[in-house]
Amino acid sequence: EPALLLSGIEKSYNRGLPGEVSVLRGIELSVARGEVIALVAPSGAGKSTLLHIAGLLDSADAGRVAIAGQDMSGLPDTRRTAVRRADVGFVYQFHHLLPEFSALENIVLPQLANGTPRKKADTRARELLDRVGLAPRASHRPAALSGGEQQRVAFCRALANAPGLLLADEPTGNLDPVTSDQVFDALMELVRGTGLSAVIATHNMDLAARMDRRIRLEAGRLVDI
Ligand code: ADP
Ligand code: ADP
Repeated sequence: EPALLLSGIEKSYNRGLPGEVSVLRGIELSVARGEVIALVAPSGAGKSTLLHIAGLLDSADAGRVAIAGQDMSGLPDTRRTAVRRADVGFVYQFHHLLPEFSALENIVLPQLANGTPRKKADTRARELLDRVGLAPRASHRPAALSGGEQQRVAFCRALANAPGLLLADEPTGNLDPVTSDQVFDALMELVRGTGLSAVIATHNMDLAARMDRRIRLEAGRLVDI
């Protein structure tokens, strides 16, 4: 079964009110295992709304979300939260690392929340940092890291619980072009090395060209490009 399946997803804000905006109008998307998809969308098109619904952070008005073959519609919130923690990794334009914790601890914490023993979580965090070339930065707090380094730590945190699906909302959008390329390389290496499926929103067509497939969010629907 696909890693992520969206069908008939609809979403409006301010439903039934004068300011109602219909953002998603019938989203169909199937992400195969190991597939990396570029999501291209003009600002305001509903990209964040779509990623939040796919990642169970927000609910649709209509339609179905299935993760790794499991339909999420009927599940209680506690179960959805458990699936989100274990099976979905998120990355944003801004790193959102916890400022009072080290790079290592930021990667350990979500594992502890997921029930992983401390020692195992520590080992996993070190392995991830090593894979993005940041082993020497393990004890640094986010403020002591460069923008590109912060973002690489955020990738490691997103993959800490070994999810099957990564959702990224312009993960390199905040970085200068050279850093952006390097950080994107690190992300692709992590993703390809684990057979992870990913939907990565980007405005950068050079980066989009390096993914398996490209889709555009247009008038509330997805079209292949
Ligand atoms: P994108 O990520 O593509 O920039 P968003 O998904 O953030 O787009 O937003 C899509 C549209 O929905 C925009 O017009 C935005 O103003 C509107 N929107 C987003 N969140 C809300 C909200 N909580 N209430 C009302 N309108 C919203
Ligand atoms: P979720 O959205 O899955 O509940 P969070 O991103 O809120 O996960 O938190 C991930 C981990 O970080 C959890 O172990 C949580 O307890 C911890 N955490 C979140 N915010 C803080 C904070 N301000 N200080 C210390 N730990 C935090």
